[in-house]
Amino acid sequence: MKTLYRSPDGRCIVAVGDITTLECDAIVNAANSSLLGGGGVDGAIHSAGGPQILEECRTLRAGPLKEGLPPGRAVATTAGRLPAKRVIHTVGPIWRGGEHHEDETLESCYRESLAVAAREGLACVAFPAISTGIYGFPKVRAARIAWKTVQEFLAGSPASMPRVIWFVFFSEADAALFMNENKLTENKSIV
Ligand code: ADP
Repeated sequence: MKTLYRSPDGRCIVAVGDITTLECDAIVNAANSSLLGGGGVDGAIHSAGGPQILEECRTLRAGPLKEGLPPGRAVATTAGRLPAKRVIHTVGPIWRGGEHHEDETLESCYRESLAVAAREGLACVAFPAISTGIYGFPKVRAARIAWKTVQEFLAGSPASMPRVIWFVFFSEADAALFMNENKLTENKSIV
């Protein structure tokens, strides 16, 4: 994991790498409503975390989430063999031109995931760039929403969990775009 930016208060970190390798209390999965696996970061999480995660997702589908997890909502499971303690699954919006509440749904993913982390007392949470892969959400627009929603959450809960939030990008280009859109300057002194 390569860290590019840490906010002055230490609560927000931007990094490039494979989110499944991060030692953080929770990593967020950009899941689909079925919770039964998919490609992208979802595939990577299930394959690195092992079958325990899918087992718990199946149990959720058999019980409280019979219809699946709606877009914008979040739910936590075990992290199986991952270094993280929990996986917080959230379902991003599929981009359909921007007039179908995509922005609000994406905001909700970040808010609900942070609320789950707060409820579970998880101190460190890592987000991938939800919806910007297979779901086709424009990356710059998603970058703005992700940052803004997390800042609003932190401003509203200065003393509570989670303490530290990671934004993890798979490529340097995506991280650069995120930093640029949110006017963050790379801190070369961080390793
Ligand atoms: P969605 O269906 O919500 O668009 P994807 O998994 O297709 O989800 O993509 C979301 C983002 O996660 C993309 O920007 C993709 O590059 C990134 N990604 C994919 N695999 C990983 C990984 N192992 N670690 C971090 N980010 C990843």
